[in-house]
Amino acid sequence: NRENLRQLLLQLDDRGYKAYRDIKGSYQFTDFTLIIDRVQGDPFATPSQIRVIAPQSVAGFPTQLYQTPAREIALRDYLTRKFDSVVKNFSSHRGTGNSGLIAITYVGQSVLERTCVFVTDKSVEVRFIVGLPGRGRSISGRQAGEMLCEDIPLIVNQALKYSSLNAKAIQDHVETVEDAEWLRQELPKRGLVAFIPDGAILPRTSGVDDRPLSDEAVPFQSPPSLRVKFTCPNRGLVTGMGIAKGVTLIVGGGYHGKSTLLRSIELGVYNHIPNDGRELVVTNPAAVKIRAEDGRSIASVDISPFINQLPQNRSTRQFSTTNASGSTSQAANIIEALEAGTELLLVDEDTAATNFMIRDRRMQQLVAKDKEPITPFIDKVRQLYTDCGVSTILVMGGSGDYFDVADIAIAMDNFQPQDVTKEAKEIALKYRTERLKEGGDKFGSINPRILLPESIDPSRGNREVKLKVRDVDEVVFGTEEIDLASVEQIAERGQLRAIAEAIVYAKRQYINGESALPEILDGVMGDIESKGLDILSNLPEGDFVKFRRFELAAALNRLRSLKVK
Ligand code: ADP
Ligand code: MG
Repeated sequence: NRENLRQLLLQLDDRGYKAYRDIKGSYQFTDFTLIIDRVQGDPFATPSQIRVIAPQSVAGFPTQLYQTPAREIALRDYLTRKFDSVVKNFSSHRGTGNSGLIAITYVGQSVLERTCVFVTDKSVEVRFIVGLPGRGRSISGRQAGEMLCEDIPLIVNQALKYSSLNAKAIQDHVETVEDAEWLRQELPKRGLVAFIPDGAILPRTSGVDDRPLSDEAVPFQSPPSLRVKFTCPNRGLVTGMGIAKGVTLIVGGGYHGKSTLLRSIELGVYNHIPNDGRELVVTNPAAVKIRAEDGRSIASVDISPFINQLPQNRSTRQFSTTNASGSTSQAANIIEALEAGTELLLVDEDTAATNFMIRDRRMQQLVAKDKEPITPFIDKVRQLYTDCGVSTILVMGGSGDYFDVADIAIAMDNFQPQDVTKEAKEIALKYRTERLKEGGDKFGSINPRILLPESIDPSRGNREVKLKVRDVDEVVFGTEEIDLASVEQIAERGQLRAIAEAIVYAKRQYINGESALPEILDGVMGDIESKGLDILSNLPEGDFVKFRRFELAAALNRLRSLKVK
């Protein structure tokens, strides 16, 4: 119990830091169980992993707050944020290195399923890290006792008991997420791929601060012709702009809010916290942001719908490179998204390769088709919809050639959308582009690749599995670094943590030299869906965050060692 732990820590005082490993185990406190799962080896190492499990008889959360999956995830998210704000008051420097640190996994503006908090009928469980205090290499036992035996009960009281929390804020959190989830499920019934509600605040504080821009933000206002209405389960009537299936163009002058709108749509695959400004912006969950990404590696991707007859007669049906160009990387990103099952492509001219997007009449005249390997996106975007059922939302302020292939054109004007479809179509008739159509009448089929297990190796030196994650940009996988800086729909570092483990899991369970990538993704995602993220590790980890199949595929696809059959 608590007194045993305190006594133990006092006995350890001044001994070598490694002796802390004796405290591993489970302790019964008055209100909860404290479990020490992993003990750090020195004060500078990754802090120790701790769990608190409080029975519902103590925690006291009403069932309605967690009875559906959406509500449960929202409540867990709320408690994560609450725990984070409470432990900040207790976390302090108490010696060398991380001594005195108490922290829960980092969370941003999204509401995601994470392994730091669980809520069931029986209990509330929280996983967090503690920097066990030391002076140099020796144990500060008394201070450790204060942290574990005094502070943690206070933290539990303040952060995990329903009676001490703001019931209204929790209700709002849960209901907002439920409404967003509901809206996302309604989209296909209305033939939509995205919805942006009136009043939404899309711009962010800064490029490095994802919170809403406060004062100067112009709230979103839908154009009447694109306005749709929903009656949400909690909030009731919500109006806003619906973006239908097909090809949608977002045009407008520079700095008028095009990219900001697209960015909100990209992240609309996730739910957001109340007052984020984008909490009811919802997007088809199979939406994938596509961009150019020169320098990435590509493993046997059939990019022939877009690129053919490369110099030196290199095949593009099984195109591999260690250093892709802007256009080949963008082509591969699209084909890989299709292979993984995307239903909506999101493209912004700011991050697209120009020669991949457009090729006008004059250039067609100067450089004959047999000298140009690239069939531009403009000739494929409609086929993607008619042949593959995949919609596109495209930000394009720089070329009116796209008027011919768009179903809808939305102009951003002073951060407000206007429906300019009619004008764009009239202009397209009046000023013909005289372009020649390129690349044939069919998009062609996607042949899923079969991954070779021996090409995916997480080992390094004498370690069977070596994984490390840097921010949302990079995974160290064995001896390789997977660069995910251009995979823009990764919202939290914990998603990368989980993706790294998921690759190892996939290799153990599904990558056998016979299964194609979509089956592998189905297998891993299905297991996580039915058994939870904890299947990805042996020890209970507190910093796994739910990810999508598309980001798992993106990580696999960027593994430089990857080979396919
Ligand atoms: P574009 O892609 O059309 O060039 P951006 O979306 O990059 O424009 O927006 C330009 C700037 O305007 C950014 O700093 C962005 O944060 C800001 N901004 C975007 N939308 C709004 C809005 N609704 N209210 C206020 N500022 C906005
Ligand atoms: Mg832009």
